[in-house]
Amino acid sequence: MAREWRNEATDMVEEQIVGRDVKDVRVLAALASVPRHLFVPPEHVSAAYVDRPLPIGSKQTISQPYMVAKMTELLSATPGMSILEIGTGSGYQSAVLAALGLRVWSVERIEHLALSARKRLGDMNIDVNVIYGDGRLGHAENAPYDRIIITAATSRVEPEWDRQLALGGILVAPLNVTTGNQRLLVRENLEHGFRNTWHDYCKFVPLLTGLD
Ligand code: SAH
Repeated sequence: MAREWRNEATDMVEEQIVGRDVKDVRVLAALASVPRHLFVPPEHVSAAYVDRPLPIGSKQTISQPYMVAKMTELLSATPGMSILEIGTGSGYQSAVLAALGLRVWSVERIEHLALSARKRLGDMNIDVNVIYGDGRLGHAENAPYDRIIITAATSRVEPEWDRQLALGGILVAPLNVTTGNQRLLVRENLEHGFRNTWHDYCKFVPLLTGLD
């Protein structure tokens, strides 16, 4: 795999991401640099670079590569910024954000996923702070964040996320818009209030309450 994964990741970026109009070269380079096969369970390694989400256990998924790229582009982040992710899952999105030079805090409500993502990222020397907790509360200790990304579908922007987003900051989240439909929301914290813009339709697992 050692030789081929870079080719697979490069092809993935060319075919699935550039082909669908993600243009930010730093985002493309970040996606090409992360070994996605190390974030999927052994039985799915052969499909790691395929154009779809994959199961990671406990009814959760690692997002489709295109969706990771699209959300990352919508963040308009620059190196050195701080970011809070809600929904660590496999840790793949966190790794892409770290590859962009961001300082990453990521919250996961399923303990064994939090622990395995923390270990996986640590083993790969990827600097991400994984927190086991209910992400609806954000992670106040290190707030405010320049960016916030939610990787589970939510019916509302939680008040704590707004509170923990820096002035000038941007939040990207999949929102339940109508029954069965989700859409990516970009929410900017501007001096005179929040400004929302709507982007791709998408399909994420639900944001759940409490801890597992
Ligand atoms: N970003 C992940 C994929 C996210 S799947 C990756 O790159 O692999 C959605 C994740 O959100 C799941 O792991 C799920 O357990 C988690 N989740 C759902 N509700 C949550 C909550 N309230 N707080 C924290 N994590 C939550």
